[in-house]
Amino acid sequence: MESKGSEAARILSEIETLKATRSDLDNRISALEAQLRHLNPEENSVVSCPSISTGFGHGLSPDMIYRYSRHLLLPSFGVQGQSNLLKSSILVVGAGGLGSPALLYLAACGVGQLGVVDHDVVELNNMHRQVIHTEAYIGQPKVKSAAASCRSINSTIQIVEHQEALRTSNALEILSQYDIIVDATDNAPSRYMISDCCVVLGKPLVSGAALGFEGQLTVYNHNRGPCYRCLFPTPPPTTACQRCADSGVLGVVPGIVGCLQALEAIKIASAVGEPLSERMLLFDALSARIRIVKIRGRSLQCEVCGENSAFTRQQFKDFDYEKFTQSPLSEVLLFFLLCIYLFIYLFISFSNFKLS
Ligand SMILES: [Zn+2]
Repeated sequence: MESKGSEAARILSEIETLKATRSDLDNRISALEAQLRHLNPEENSVVSCPSISTGFGHGLSPDMIYRYSRHLLLPSFGVQGQSNLLKSSILVVGAGGLGSPALLYLAACGVGQLGVVDHDVVELNNMHRQVIHTEAYIGQPKVKSAAASCRSINSTIQIVEHQEALRTSNALEILSQYDIIVDATDNAPSRYMISDCCVVLGKPLVSGAALGFEGQLTVYNHNRGPCYRCLFPTPPPTTACQRCADSGVLGVVPGIVGCLQALEAIKIASAVGEPLSERMLLFDALSARIRIVKIRGRSLQCEVCGENSAFTRQQFKDFDYEKFTQSPLSEVLLFFLLCIYLFIYLFISFSNFKLS
């Protein structure tokens, strides 16, 4: 009898604590709303999510306020950051080891429209790192599996499935539908093609790679920053590039890089924080070390984004990326890069190298 009484007291105490938390949350939201109205009374009345009807001037319905309350509590993020996210559209190219965590976090955080491109199917020997997929989807399209997972996490956002290989024939049409592109692919021709397409369309590109116990991350073509070709005007020799199918990868490594890709995409979409442009993050899992390396800015001689370049949509469509990189675009590599070439290029070619 006594234990029942103490259990009831504990529950009552927890209820009171939760009520107090809710009250604090309501007060904080009200204060932020007032602050927002004071800062920009006209603009804040039209913030809205394209796929969701909203109930208040800031574009957030009561359900949204509850769902994203921990975002709203962040002073530097708040209502405006969340509203910006809800208005944004992000495309993730690749639903593998990098794309899995990126998609999950982007769906959970409330990106208004989230697209995923992939033509591959779910395989058992990839599931140690492609955590968005479940065993029930083995043999089925990754896009279908990834979209189902995203919808199960957040049914209020728009998930767009592109179940096809990204090629010069469809890349312009697909990428043009989104504000931000996340490159979660694993091969050289795709990286050049996606970067070039982003330059042609004027889209920021969040690029990540992982192999073995190492990963890397940067943002291209953002605020006059460099594109992929500015750093790598010529492709590395194919013999210098390793891939996970041959060399292996610890599953959590692309998981970490994919999370960081989601973070950079969220920063750009919400206009909060400083995106990782003109810098590259290098992650070494074995030594638990993360370094940020300064990389070169936009190259005036770049064939795609340079001062005198005139890389048009038609030139993009006609460009043979397989021939350029001497790698088949359709070959499904588990990951690309983090090859010796890249590090040699970074550490020797750039005189303005620094650590932070
Ligand atoms: Zn460039």
